[in-house]
Amino acid sequence: MIYLDNAATTKPCEEACAAVMQGLEMFGNPSSLHSLGFRAEKLISSARESIARSVGASPEEVFFTSCATESNNTAIFGAANSVGRHKKKIVTTTVEHPSVAVCCDRLEERGFDVVRIAPDANGIISAESIVSAVDDNTCLVTTMLVNNETGRVLPIEKAFSAIKKKFPRVLTHCDCVQGYLKLKIKFPKLFADMISVSAHKIHGPKGIGALIVKKGVHIPPYICGGGQEKGLRSGTESVPLICGFGAAVDRYSADISERYQKVSQLRTHLAHHCENTPGVYLYSDGDCSPYVSIIAVEGLKSEVLLHFLEEREVYVSSGSACSKGKKSAVIREFKIPQEHRDCVLRISFDSSNTLADVDSLFEFIKDAQKSLCKIK
Ligand code: PLP
Repeated sequence: MIYLDNAATTKPCEEACAAVMQGLEMFGNPSSLHSLGFRAEKLISSARESIARSVGASPEEVFFTSCATESNNTAIFGAANSVGRHKKKIVTTTVEHPSVAVCCDRLEERGFDVVRIAPDANGIISAESIVSAVDDNTCLVTTMLVNNETGRVLPIEKAFSAIKKKFPRVLTHCDCVQGYLKLKIKFPKLFADMISVSAHKIHGPKGIGALIVKKGVHIPPYICGGGQEKGLRSGTESVPLICGFGAAVDRYSADISERYQKVSQLRTHLAHHCENTPGVYLYSDGDCSPYVSIIAVEGLKSEVLLHFLEEREVYVSSGSACSKGKKSAVIREFKIPQEHRDCVLRISFDSSNTLADVDSLFEFIKDAQKSLCKIK
């Protein structure tokens, strides 16, 4: 099989699977005062250190959550319920993942003034457009690093550094899910107060993520209870999933540049095929992460082509996995022409993919162009 849907999820690596088993065997409750609890807690500490190291944060800044969706909810509602008690403006973009966008919608219903920055005519969101929306009444700026549908990289460091210079008390949050361990992210250099990451996008297990919160930034918890994770996220820690997360991070932290180069070659090869295949268009350019590309195959409906490819054991996505077949507003926001919006496929690579995988994808796309009914 050829798996080209790595932005939806990745295959857990061997190291993560082995670490999950180890965490299952170490069944003590990390909060217990006896040695079984202590040993479980040691495993958690080691994973916490790995995740902190991977972004240049300190272990005390890493808070485990059940997924990036929870991390985003914690950051956004936390900001709204702290700084947002006095300042009612939130700045975000029109291309966020639903785990950010829907939180902002809920806060708008509660009376917050939500400003959503849209890409310009070329599909680009500039740092200036984000910064210029921030003012004295702003409690939070929440923007993603890499768009999950198009791969577009947003200028977060530039925007957040300018915002922090002018408005140091505004909280900055970045959803780093699609950039984590794919681009080099240094938490202190991003000028973010909080960043969200998820294990299953980096070959770890599903059901575990982290919110990294800058020392000195205090937000109220989203999930209350026994006070685990220093009170920010109660609930007995999932030792197995945390161990799997830590192992995946150790495995993929070391070779970010090498993998980036390899995936860039795959992207170049994909672009070459698009140029040489009539009716196929690439909508992700040089400002995009090579890991995620959006293409349109003129006249073939996304879902139809997706299933055609699936029958040949090639797995892609018809947009983001989270939109579950719903029409994507993000595709429209990025200015993909109306006539191509029903024809897009998201191709998302992993460094284990090969040039031959891309060749096979295009062989099958050409077969589909010959044999499938075209939409008007
Ligand atoms: N943010 C982005 C950009 C994503 O792509 C995703 C998942 O697709 C999420 C957040 C949610 O991550 P999780 O599945 O860990 O909740």
